[in-house]
Amino acid sequence: MRQRAFGRLTGVLPPDNHVHSQWSYDTFGRASMTAACERALELGLPAVAFTEHLDFADAAPADAISAMGIEPGWWDAIRPFDVAGYLASLEECRRAHPSLRIVSGVEAGEPHLFAASAAAVLASAPFDRVLGSLHALPYDGRLVNSARLFRVLPPDEVMRRYLTEVVALIEGSDLFEVLAHMDYPRRHWPAGAGPYPEASFEGEYRAVLRALAGSGRVLEVNTYSPLASVTLLRWWHEEGGTAVSFGSDAHVAGRVGDKFREAVAIAEAAGFARGGDPAGFWLR
Ligand SMILES: [Zn+2]
Ligand SMILES: [Zn+2]
Repeated sequence: MRQRAFGRLTGVLPPDNHVHSQWSYDTFGRASMTAACERALELGLPAVAFTEHLDFADAAPADAISAMGIEPGWWDAIRPFDVAGYLASLEECRRAHPSLRIVSGVEAGEPHLFAASAAAVLASAPFDRVLGSLHALPYDGRLVNSARLFRVLPPDEVMRRYLTEVVALIEGSDLFEVLAHMDYPRRHWPAGAGPYPEASFEGEYRAVLRALAGSGRVLEVNTYSPLASVTLLRWWHEEGGTAVSFGSDAHVAGRVGDKFREAVAIAEAAGFARGGDPAGFWLR
């Protein structure tokens, strides 16, 4: 009934390809896969992907980070991903909401540093939507949450180091399809540093976009981060990018599909449009 009432919106909004549920360690009891599905139906989203965090507090000997001598464990909240529990919830939601496409996935953190550990989990079950993301950077012999670096480095230096590491992530990992929140520390750009100077990082952004497009992958428009500009999405196209994915990065059900109308307007202004599959990526 609910989905019929909002059915006229189906096909207008894109799928939410980046949602966290109770199976992500950083939702701390606030998230519910069931509630997120209900919210997606309410909004008329054609699909929702549960992309739970795949982070590792410890490295396996075969992971690149072990050979680099960099200490992992950038956050003490990190917990292993319970794949069996997650898949059971997913099945339950699919049974309860047959009209919603419910897509499996993970958000693999620093996959270039934890390739062996991440690949072992991905081999254990079929995951449809695999995001790659960088939250933490090697600094002073250990992985450090990139947002924390604003305390010790000039803000533009943080962004340049981050975007340079994203290129290393893209070149060093082929286990993900979509690059999540490509400029993640921008969320924490210090208020005292003035407006975020996107244009001054054009060279670094283009290097990321070129590497991503060159490997045939997809750029995420993340609506938890400050929204990408039309200019940035045009750079993506100029560097060879052909597809964008929309992701709310919701850690509570109420944020599923958040700011999607604004994000769609930006993508459309940059020439991207819905493809033949309403649950697919937007294309140009
Ligand atoms: Zn993330
Ligand atoms: Zn996320």
